[in-house]
Parts: sequence; structure tokens; C-alpha cells
Amino acid sequence: MLVLGTFNRKKGEELAGLLELPGMRIGTLADFPGAQPVEEDGQTFAENARLKAAGYARQIGQWVLADDSGLVVDALQGRPGVQSARYAGPTADDAANRRKLLAELADVPLEKRTARFECHLTLANPEGVIRAEAVGRCRGRITFAERGGQGFGYDPLFEILEYHRTFGELGPVAKGRLSHRGRAIEQIRPVLLRIFAEQKAI
Ligand code: IMP
Repeated sequence: MLVLGTFNRKKGEELAGLLELPGMRIGTLADFPGAQPVEEDGQTFAENARLKAAGYARQIGQWVLADDSGLVVDALQGRPGVQSARYAGPTADDAANRRKLLAELADVPLEKRTARFECHLTLANPEGVIRAEAVGRCRGRITFAERGGQGFGYDPLFEILEYHRTFGELGPVAKGRLSHRGRAIEQIRPVLLRIFAEQKAI
């Protein structure tokens, strides 16, 4: 069994949908009611993905694939970055984070609203040893208002220039092809298949 190391239901669903690992059982932390949130106090996405993968794997004694991801805005010198989930405060929800982003960028002109999403994936074995890592990035621009109701987080504000659409408008299939998470998964999938074939842990 492979457990996705997230409590974020929408992110878990998106990851599970993109993984396409035939025959492999995929669970989430919701299947392990005793699992406690691992503190994400790393300075980078890569550090936090490692903390989560190793921490949850040790807690539940399973293979864990953890993702740490976020939005890096050029005009904000890389913020919200690793603070993306908590940008508007420790208990902020997605809508509050989006409002804060729009407010901070209120005076920033179109050509300076460039940004990227980043996703780091880390696989840890049941002992908490890191066995694989991958990173995916996706460039775009922050819109002046929300567009589209699909996806989660900053999706309604993140426009893919070639498509003139936000991730909120594009929907899961196109997002999966273009997104930071889709790209990171593409890289890690062959490694996952090889490791699990070797382990016969499917
Ligand atoms: P994490 O759960 O600590 O990795 O936090 C990731 C945060 O970054 C999420 O709560 C979102 O705010 C944002 N984020 C990451 N990936 C995406 C995405 O695909 N779309 C929109 N927002 C995202």
C-alpha cells in the first residue's frame, strides 16, 4: 500500500487521480486516524516534503508519498512560498489566502504579476528512509480577480498564459497535464513502479 502524506482532501484526490499506478492500493492519512500532523518547519519545499514523508512513514509504518507545494510570486520576492497554506494566518482558508494575495498585488501591473507553482514529492519507506524525490514547476501569472471555481487553493488566480485560462477554469484534465504536481508525478512514477515491483509491496 502507498499512503499519500496529506490531510488536504482536495490535494489528496488530485494526487491519487494523477498517479495512475495500476494494481497499487493507494490510501491517505485519513485511513490512519492516529496520524498526527508533522510540523512543517523547513525553509524549503524540498525540506518540508522530506519531513512529511519520513515523519508520517515512521508514524504509520507504511510507504508514504508526501507532497509539499506552493506559490512563488516574483513581485513578492518569492512569497507566499512555503507559507502558501498559511499565508493569511495560521487558520486561514483558501479564500482568505486568495484575498490577501489580491490585496498585496493590487498595485502591481499585469506584466509584473508573474509567478510559479512548485511541487516537491518525496517517497519514504516504512522505516522513514527517503527512497525517491522529484520536483515539478509551472509558470503563470496572477490575475486581478478570481476566475473559475475548479481546483483548490490559488487555482482561480493562476493563469496559464498560453491558454488564457486560470487553473480554476481549466479543470482537472488540463491542470494535470500542465501543473507542477502533474510534472513531478510524471518524473516519480517510473521510480515508484520500479521500487514497488522490487518490493512486491503492491
Ligand atoms: P502544503 O499542503 O503545505 O503543501 O500547502 C500547499 C498550499 O499551496 C496549498 O494550501 C495551496 O494554498 C497552495 N497550492 C499548492 N498546490 C496548489 C495547486 O495546485 N493549486 C492551487 N494552490 C496550490
